[in-house]
Amino acid sequence: MGRTVLLNPGPVNVSEQVRKALVNPDICHREEEFTRLLGSIRARLLQAFAPKAYTSVVFTGSGTAALEAAVAGSVEEGRGLLAVVNGVYGERIARIGRIHRIPVKEIRASWTAWPDLEAIKSALRQEPAIQVVALVHHETTTGLLNPVVEVARLAKRYGKVVLLDSISGLGGEPLDLDAAGVELCVGTANKCLQGLPGLSFVLIRQEEIPRLLAIPPRSLYLSLGENWQSQEKGEPLFTPTIPIAYALDEALAELLDEGVANRSSRFEAASALLREGFERLGLRFLLPPSLRSRTITALHQPDGLPYHTLHDRLKAQGFVIYAGQGALAGQIFRVATMGAVRLDEYRAFLDALALSLR
Ligand SMILES: *Cc1c(COP(=O)(O)O)cnc(C)c1O
Repeated sequence: MGRTVLLNPGPVNVSEQVRKALVNPDICHREEEFTRLLGSIRARLLQAFAPKAYTSVVFTGSGTAALEAAVAGSVEEGRGLLAVVNGVYGERIARIGRIHRIPVKEIRASWTAWPDLEAIKSALRQEPAIQVVALVHHETTTGLLNPVVEVARLAKRYGKVVLLDSISGLGGEPLDLDAAGVELCVGTANKCLQGLPGLSFVLIRQEEIPRLLAIPPRSLYLSLGENWQSQEKGEPLFTPTIPIAYALDEALAELLDEGVANRSSRFEAASALLREGFERLGLRFLLPPSLRSRTITALHQPDGLPYHTLHDRLKAQGFVIYAGQGALAGQIFRVATMGAVRLDEYRAFLDALALSLR
């Protein structure tokens, strides 16, 4: 089978070096070889995204595993969670909270707009039991960038902890976590980091650690505090996906080599190229330019051309696009610019798209 270019928002195409890292030697996770590998991953995560003030904890599982660990592990008994919801992933945060019997206040907004900061402010003022304010950095549902700095500033004013789902943001969208005042930031191996799926992580502000360790675990496998404590001693709590860890370590080395800002600019250049092409082809964008991320473009489904037809025509030419989700299913399609994909491949995609729209 030839190369398929993945234009879905993860899992992404990876470099040959990342793929080859999968077949590094067999090791035991209770030996120094794995301690070194885990140490390298955790150090590189901090080097890339959050030096000094932060620490990190890695989970086996896709992004949702680390997200669930962060939500369930950060709200104390008797306190609540405020979830900003303007897409499928904001809804997921709220749902995780409810599953763990955490009181959840949802601030709902249109899926194609920023949340109402005044509504967040009045909820924070009126409900002192809220302890954690959670939001999605980049709403993958639509490709919308949320106002993280503004929401975090409000949360700080009321003394709240900020939990950010940056699973599709880290490595793609510039953000200074420290300056923004984010305490917990969730990421995954296989989106803008260009690793393979199976590992996810939480970056945690050091000062938060004593508070997190005092929260009784709501989950055995996904305990934020206990997993962190064990990893600090150099050992994972449970058997990790070792090949995926090799691949993530290599992917992080490549990210640091390329430079996080350059990585993000590369994705930005790719989306600019595609967006020019989409306009030429007469496609209509879901979001205005001011709300769009660097890595996902959501387009209205052209009249008379069902999603699956468009998808199948493109797949036959070697390109995988992504359907709308939730309330937008059938109405939009999405094209991501994440992963180890060359500009000439994006140009070839535009040609394939032009053919497929006829
Ligand atoms: C991909 C993604 C997730 C996690 O999805 P998984 O399938 O568990 O990796 C969570 N939040 C956002 C914003 C995402 O883009």
